[in-house]
Order: sequence, then structure tokens, then C-alpha cells
Amino acid sequence: MSFCLNPDCQQPRNSSEAKFCQSCGSVLLLGDRYRALKPLGSGGFGRTFLAVDEYKPSKPRCVIKQFRREEQGTRNLQKAVALFVREAQRLEELGKHPQIPDLLAHFEQDDRQYLIQEFVDGPNLAQELEEGGAFDEAQIRQLLQDLLPVLDFVHQRQVIHRDIKPENIIRRSPDGQLVLVDFGASKLATGTALGQTGTVIGSAGYVAPEQALGKAVFGSDLYSLGVTCIHLLTQMPPFDLFDSSEGAWVWEDYLFDRRVSPSLKRVLNKLLANGTSRRYQSAAAVLQDLQAKSAIPIASPPPKPPASEWKTLHNWNRTVHLQEEDHTRKRLNTTYILWLVGFILGTSLRPLKGMHRFYNGKILTGVLWMIPVIGDIGSLVDLFLIPRMVDEYETKARAKLGMSESGVPLAPQAAVTQTLSPPTREQQMVKLLKAAQARGGQLSVTQAVMDTSIGFTEVEDLLRDMVKRGYATVDNDDRTGVVVYRFLEL
Ligand SMILES: [Zn+2]
Repeated sequence: MSFCLNPDCQQPRNSSEAKFCQSCGSVLLLGDRYRALKPLGSGGFGRTFLAVDEYKPSKPRCVIKQFRREEQGTRNLQKAVALFVREAQRLEELGKHPQIPDLLAHFEQDDRQYLIQEFVDGPNLAQELEEGGAFDEAQIRQLLQDLLPVLDFVHQRQVIHRDIKPENIIRRSPDGQLVLVDFGASKLATGTALGQTGTVIGSAGYVAPEQALGKAVFGSDLYSLGVTCIHLLTQMPPFDLFDSSEGAWVWEDYLFDRRVSPSLKRVLNKLLANGTSRRYQSAAAVLQDLQAKSAIPIASPPPKPPASEWKTLHNWNRTVHLQEEDHTRKRLNTTYILWLVGFILGTSLRPLKGMHRFYNGKILTGVLWMIPVIGDIGSLVDLFLIPRMVDEYETKARAKLGMSESGVPLAPQAAVTQTLSPPTREQQMVKLLKAAQARGGQLSVTQAVMDTSIGFTEVEDLLRDMVKRGYATVDNDDRTGVVVYRFLEL
């Protein structure tokens, strides 16, 4: 197939050998060398095509970027041409990085500007998300580790990419390396362009607030990278992850059972800060924070194993269990033998009686057992008590090691919750007040349950009580109609 590059062509599909379009007569070989195969997409400034370089014997694939001819006045045209020329210079410079496509050629044909770029084969991250589902923490950390050095390289050359989003990050097929593409929207951040209100370029949902006002800075790319990360983590459109009434990101509410460490949350939230002064100032700073924080062990309970690992874990449990049963039986036998030795010897040498009790850690009763008469009765009672004594000993040993009955290590929290007394009503009310404060003074029952992890009926009861005491009023949310509790003092 050969695709006609004339945007007005009625029948752009031609045979792969044709030199001229059979429909409009346009030349099919761009620059007498590059043949467009199929359109890849179109953006604000033109169209892109998959193409082959017919000049080279191996006929490698490449990408043709066709610049749209602006029809509305010369001012727009000049602006468009200037932008194109700048992109070409920039791409040639940036293409030296292994994770940025090479610029192969740049020319004008039929009053249209063209760029020929290296073709990067592989799925983009939006496709990966669709096929593989939401990313986990390790994948996001890897993504940041891979892309931040590229952004650092780009920013050091005074370029702002301006359109970072999952579609523009491709995982190159041969080596799995992430490649940052589509610098079409980028613009040299030189003295004139920086700070000067310019054309708003970028993709809705990913654009930093200052970039939306036409004042993109290097940090604007970091913001878009942050949005990319939370989109990949939650698989939710960026618009849904932003609460416009609060002016805040609420992506953490959409993690559900997915676990993200507090350190990564901090990094992401700093990437997503609204004000540029509160955001990271450079890609290198993010990288430094990420590396420093990932070195600190994360104090969170062990993650739930994925379904595929349950079976192995289950088998492992059984093995541990069997081993333990074996161990208990051995212990029981030793205790009986010691009892027998103690009994036989004890009848002639009294102090040896109850020696198995010493073995099982019962030193005080062991001493008592050596007293005449008590020892005689005791020996016979022990015959029935020995299995229980062994069990008790095993349980105590397990508790010390922090293991469950089946040998699975217990989360440290399990031990803590057993010893803590349940929170008082007042403590729970304080929790609710704090949650309301964090949500701008009002809470629905569901939000309260989510934020405080107090049970549903208990939350309802507590909130009713707080209304009675005059802390809050019940009302309906103006936007959603949901019943909300408005806290008066907040
Ligand atoms: Zn044509």
C-alpha cells in the first residue's frame, strides 16, 4: 500500500509500486525517497504517517510528519512555519538521546513542511494500560527511573516537551526501553518564549495549570508526568481524579485495594502540586527523592499475594503445617520417655520426678512435683496432661516468633490490635472531626466510613449524636443531592 499525502485526495490508497496517485496525481514518493504506508494519527499541527525509506536497501520503516498548511492569514502561516523549523532544529539536537527518536530529514514539498523521524516500534503506555490493567508501584517507580533522565536531558537543552501523556511514551519492542515521542508541541524555552504568553499546546487533563494559561515551565512536564503516573496507577481518566470543587487531586481515593507506599505518594503529590514553587524544580530532584526514599524499608503490612500465588502459598502452608505436626509428635514422644524415666527412677530416687516439667518450662511446679505424695499423684495426672503441656509450649513459642498456627508470619499490626483497647466514643468523634476538616467541613456517611474506617452503623450513630450535640447539621449536597453533615465549627 502507498498512501497519498494530499489531504484533499478522495482516494488516497494506491498500490505499493505506484509513483503517482491514481486519484489526484500527486507524487507518492516524498523527497523521491519516503513512501507513506498508512496514517498514524493527526494532531493540532498536522498528520503523521508510517512510511518506508525506499532509498535504503533494507527499506527501514520511518515516520512522516506532515505539517498542516494554515489557510487563515499569513500571520498564522508564519507562526506555523516558524514552529516547524524550530521543531526540526530541536529534534535533531534531542535525537542524540537513545530514548528520543532520531530526526532523519526535514524538507518542504508542494508548499508543505515535512519531518522524517525514526520509527519506534512498540506499544504506547495507553495501550499497555488497556491490555495489562493498572500499573503497580514497582512499574511506576521503573517508569519514573526510566523517563526522568530523558526529561532531564530535554530540559537541559532548554526544551519543554509540553505533551507528556501515556500515548506519547512508547515501549520500544526490541529492548523494552521507554521512548519519549511527539515533540511537536514542544517549544524552545529561550528568553523570548519563556514567560511569554504563547499558544496553549498539550492534552486536556494532563496540562499543568500554568501551561493552560500559556506559561509553560520545565515543571509543567513534571506535572504531566505525575498525571500520567496516577492515570496508570488508577486506570481512571485524569478528569475523574481531580476534584475541581476542592481544586485538589483525589487520585488516592481511586486506588481501592491497590497499595502505594507513602514515599511514592509523596513524590507523586509533589509532582502534581498546583503551584510551581511547591512542585519539584527539576527532573533530577525527583530522581534523587525517588532513589533516597526507595532505599528506606516501607513499614506496611505484606501485600496480599495475587490469585496466581495463592496456590503456592497454600501448599507452602501445608508443608509448614506437616513439618510442625511432625515436630510436635517428636516432642510428645520425648516428654513421654522422660516421664517414664522420671517415673521409674522417681519411685527409687524421688527428686528426679517431674523432670519432664522442667523440660516443658514449668520450673515451679516441677520443684513441687518432687515433694513426696504430691509427686506420686501428680505423675499419674501428668500422663494425661502431657499432650496439652506440649501444645501450650508450642503456642507460646509461636507467639514469641510472631507466627500463626500454620506457620505463616503474622503482620505486626495483628499483635498490636489485640493489646489496644477499643477507641472511646470521644476519640471516634475526634476522628470524624478531623476527616470533616480534611474534606472542607462536610462529610457524607460513606466518606466518613472511608476516611476513618469506623463501621457504617457506628458512623451513622456518631454523626446523629454530633448533630444532637450541636456540632453539625444535616443537609443535602447542592451538586449531588447526597445527605451530608456540615460541621459548624470548621
Ligand atoms: Zn491522491
